[in-house]
Amino acid sequence: MSPGTPDSLHLLLWIEHLRATDKPMRPEQADQLAAPGLFTAADVRELEAMIGSVEIYHRAALPLRCYACGGDDFDLVALACRCGVGLDFMDCDSIAAVLRKASAAS
Ligand SMILES: [Zn+2]
Repeated sequence: MSPGTPDSLHLLLWIEHLRATDKPMRPEQADQLAAPGLFTAADVRELEAMIGSVEIYHRAALPLRCYACGGDDFDLVALACRCGVGLDFMDCDSIAAVLRKASAAS
């Protein structure tokens, strides 16, 4: 994904924000979240209507092992593995999202 191209994470983050702030999605936001080859603005509106809640989980702990070398000989101040791979969990791209379907009544 090139910078500035929306993807599934942008959509989920935005839906989470709308639920947290109790606001509806505006049409121009659906247009902005449309991603070529991924979803159209109509898809975005449909997904937004189907999703009741979104919870985003982002790792807030060091990995058990370095994904590159498999070791756990970490420099805890530099937050890097001795092999040079960064361990900064704020940059970690491992994110999980839990979606709950909107109830039929809403
Ligand atoms: Zn390593």
